[in-house]
Amino acid sequence: PELWSDHFNDFICKCLIKDFELRPNVLDLLQHVFIRQILGRERILQKQLMELIDLNQQIGTTGKTRHERIHTKKGGQMMSSSPTPDEVEDLVTLEVLDEQLQRRYAKDQIYTYVGDILIAVNPFHKMELYSPQYTKMYIGAKRTANPPHIFAVADIAYQSMVSYNADQCIVISGESGAGKTESAHLLVEQLTVLGKANNRSLQEKILLVNNLVEAFGNACTAINDNSSRFGKYLEMKFTCGGTVVGAQISEYLLEKSRVVHQATGEKNFHIFYYIYAGLAERKKLAHYKLSDSKTPKYLFNEHIKLGPDIVNNTFYKEQFDSVEQCFKVIGFTLEELGSVYSTLAAILNSGDIEFASVASEHQTDKSNISNIAVLENAASLLCIRPDELQEALTSHCVVARGETIVRPNTVEKATEVRDAMGKALYGRLFSWIVNRINTLLRPDTHLGEDDKGLNIGILDIFGFENFKRNSFEQLCINIANEQIQFYFNQHIFAWEQDEYLNEDVDARVIEYEDNRPLLDLFLQKPMGMLSLLDEESRFPQATDQTLVEKFEDNLKSKNFWRPKRVDLGFGIHHYAGKVIYNAAGFLSKNRDTLPADIVLLLRSSENQLIRKLVTHPLTKTGKHTWPNSNSVFYVLCVQGDTGTGETTHHPRESTNMRTQTVASYFRYSLMDLLSKMVAGQPHFVRCIKPNNDRQASKFDREKVLVQLRYTGVLETAKIRRQGYSHRILYANFVNRYYILAFHAHKEPDASPETCAAILEKTKLENWVLGKTKVFLKYHHVETLNLMVRQT
Ligand code: ATP
Ligand code: MG
Repeated sequence: PELWSDHFNDFICKCLIKDFELRPNVLDLLQHVFIRQILGRERILQKQLMELIDLNQQIGTTGKTRHERIHTKKGGQMMSSSPTPDEVEDLVTLEVLDEQLQRRYAKDQIYTYVGDILIAVNPFHKMELYSPQYTKMYIGAKRTANPPHIFAVADIAYQSMVSYNADQCIVISGESGAGKTESAHLLVEQLTVLGKANNRSLQEKILLVNNLVEAFGNACTAINDNSSRFGKYLEMKFTCGGTVVGAQISEYLLEKSRVVHQATGEKNFHIFYYIYAGLAERKKLAHYKLSDSKTPKYLFNEHIKLGPDIVNNTFYKEQFDSVEQCFKVIGFTLEELGSVYSTLAAILNSGDIEFASVASEHQTDKSNISNIAVLENAASLLCIRPDELQEALTSHCVVARGETIVRPNTVEKATEVRDAMGKALYGRLFSWIVNRINTLLRPDTHLGEDDKGLNIGILDIFGFENFKRNSFEQLCINIANEQIQFYFNQHIFAWEQDEYLNEDVDARVIEYEDNRPLLDLFLQKPMGMLSLLDEESRFPQATDQTLVEKFEDNLKSKNFWRPKRVDLGFGIHHYAGKVIYNAAGFLSKNRDTLPADIVLLLRSSENQLIRKLVTHPLTKTGKHTWPNSNSVFYVLCVQGDTGTGETTHHPRESTNMRTQTVASYFRYSLMDLLSKMVAGQPHFVRCIKPNNDRQASKFDREKVLVQLRYTGVLETAKIRRQGYSHRILYANFVNRYYILAFHAHKEPDASPETCAAILEKTKLENWVLGKTKVFLKYHHVETLNLMVRQT
């Protein structure tokens, strides 16, 4: 507020008056520096701002195009140049977006465009927007013909895939609870309709895939009752003609630790509650060695007294029936289903195994199992011998000087081994289910000999998280979000602006928040955070304390700091805000060791599924080729000192699984994901959470503004307004659009003159010809495509 002196006011006014070109920058400055005070406490400032904007408006309307004008407020009412604010569905022309979003939200218009990006504000209530009538309305329609909608994004992706014979990728981002998973569902629904699956059962299967994997991969968190605890990249497969023929899922980084421990107010993965209630309903609990009077510990978070409510919960029972139906329709056999249930029940039983300390003459830290009956239940469900399970839990083998010695486990160690087994079984079960789905929905059989097929990928990962207490899982989740944001920035800003330079196109440079320094901080080798974590994980003597000290000594970045008074704490200033992490448990979570004794024992199981789960590697279906070193992929991936020498194969195939750390697998997963994403043309959906209370009709403007700002939406509006988001090589342009200006049988040469002739004929404005490419505004392409279709 002190800055808002008369001098400053004068200065800004002068800028506005003298140099009209500075106007957006000045307003930006106003927004960035003052909006908090203005919106919050300082009503006087608000008035001054309005006067300023008013002045700006008066100047702005003189001699500028409609696109250049801004919408402003006068006396509390919106004033605007045409179109009227209510008609503004593409906010690209606006400087102040949050206000418009709020107006639209108040009228349940949850979708809005900013150029070619869709903003979806979570309504937190059921919307009448997705009926068959809407489905139909958005098929093949011009974008401006209908209000903004997620179905329109599906349509654009689909039409682009078919028109350009190119893969597409829809990236959905937003913080936890913003609506990514819901959006992903809606996209899949619309795409199956667009893909005219002539095989109804295939269509049905694809629609059920999400429900099935989410039952296993989602859970109730403090933020979201149906929070994705894994990253999901769903690829819908089409023939070149655009008929949907299958689907493939890739899953990333399931938060396995949730199986054995949940934070205050949180729950285990949904499926555990579903199966427990579902089996109770069918009177089958005893068959799976479970009891309705004694809730398994893994389900029973002491902070939420769920216990007795689970078996009586009708929602859980219905969900269990529905999950079972999904399994059956997708094509799992009854035998497989039985094995899945046994594995889940075995995990629940094993969680109840208790250990007691046994004092002996020589060793004081031996442990024993105090409830043998539970151990026997777990062993019987896993189809292994109970005595062997007992041994594998309470002791471990070490090889010293060629001799194998059996050492006892302390109670603490035995508990750790028990939990490691539960986590590993669940994680592998999840991967196995995903693999089975991929096999069952593989498109090979439906594609013709010469048809390699096309695909549209939909990325729905866990959103950015900032809890009261943040652990290793939050760090991984937030790094993944950081990487997705980087990809967005590269795509929207960096590559576009590089091309202006390369092609000698005159366009204004847009400043944006580059989060590359953060990626360096995390991923660089050998001094990035993940490398340091791996290095420390190799030292048996290391502790979480030595780890944070190592971070402190080696990470030289203004985005990293050690907060005082927080033991094992460290802070990261992410693109989306500051997060304080607690390093307790980082080393053991990263090592994620499953003792060899347990692996060997499970390999002896008489249950085929259990044996498969512990046989490495789990065969991944679907071929995956790595991009060569010229690929843009390497622009995205942060290089270590070793240049491009990244792992080029699945590390688990080459690495002994006991030395495979979560961090190195995570790094691999991120690269795998990016390589898939960059292979397609991206479309972005930005989900916005309007409040932290999950309340309908509540628009917390400050919260929305923060999200718009850190995701770069404000800058996106600017670059879409001023830039050229489509750059097409002359040859491709002529090939695709010559028909608009020339006879069909007379294909003209791919020269800039031909391109100009075509563009002039179409009467489009504001395009530019570069050295080798045609530069178009985001809305040009749609018009051109529509014209071609109508020719
Ligand atoms: P996370 O990162 O935790 O997985 P998310 O972004 O995937 O979060 P969702 O699970 O999709 O968030 O959405 C959270 C909740 O918001 C949903 O369970 C639903 O209640 C509500 N919601 C989201 N989108 C819509 C919508 N389009 N219509 C109605 N309700 C919605
Ligand atoms: Mg989700």
